[in-house]
Amino acid sequence: MFWVCFIIGLVLGSVFGAIAYWNIEGVKGVIVGIVVTLAFGLLFGGGVYLEAKTKADKWNNGYCPNCNIHWTPYGASDKTLGSKHKYYYCEECYTEIEI
Ligand SMILES: [Zn+2]
Repeated sequence: MFWVCFIIGLVLGSVFGAIAYWNIEGVKGVIVGIVVTLAFGLLFGGGVYLEAKTKADKWNNGYCPNCNIHWTPYGASDKTLGSKHKYYYCEECYTEIEI
């Protein structure tokens, strides 16, 4: 999972890396280009990975970690920044999660 995101990040980062490479002459341009590409890959890969991991931890395979019963869906948010959130609660202890 992390590696997939990291590689997508590298591809996106390479665009910015290439811009840096074209704008800075010589070896410095190459180094800055590589650093920018890697930094973007790590940031993007790490960010997406952490987000996915946090969601998976909360979801806990669909079961409340306290009571081991299935989450009950009770709503969904409006789309905010392109991502829609769904809400679930536990019928036993009323723990709520937002995915
Ligand atoms: Zn519960």
